[in-house]
Amino acid sequence: MKEKFPCIECGLCCYKVNEVPEVKYLYDVEKDCCRYLNCNTYKCTIYNNRPAFCNVEHMYDEYFSHTMSESEFILINLKVCYQLNKEKGFIANCQKLAIFIDELEIY
Ligand code: SF4
Ligand code: SF4
Repeated sequence: MKEKFPCIECGLCCYKVNEVPEVKYLYDVEKDCCRYLNCNTYKCTIYNNRPAFCNVEHMYDEYFSHTMSESEFILINLKVCYQLNKEKGFIANCQKLAIFIDELEIY
């Protein structure tokens, strides 16, 4: 993937690992999120060595580059990010993500 995924570092996907079979092993029941998430900063503490499944660019290159464009893949993922923030009522985050989504939907 040539573009970098415009992650706003909300950390909400890292709170969903228990719902995703591929990364369920990362779940920490006491933190109720991924064991590697810093719950104060919402940053991944193993970012440079995070599992391939957590790496949007890697997932595109490895599994989706033959079925859709980069922009389509980024858009699909951004819509999930948007939905996670909407469910939490994080309006400011939704607004940030909506800008990226709008840009991709226009072009
Ligand atoms: S939910 Fe989306 S924007 Fe938030 S940390 Fe995960 S990938 Fe980044
Ligand atoms: S390894 Fe890092 S990016 Fe992946 S779910 Fe855990 S905290 Fe998030």
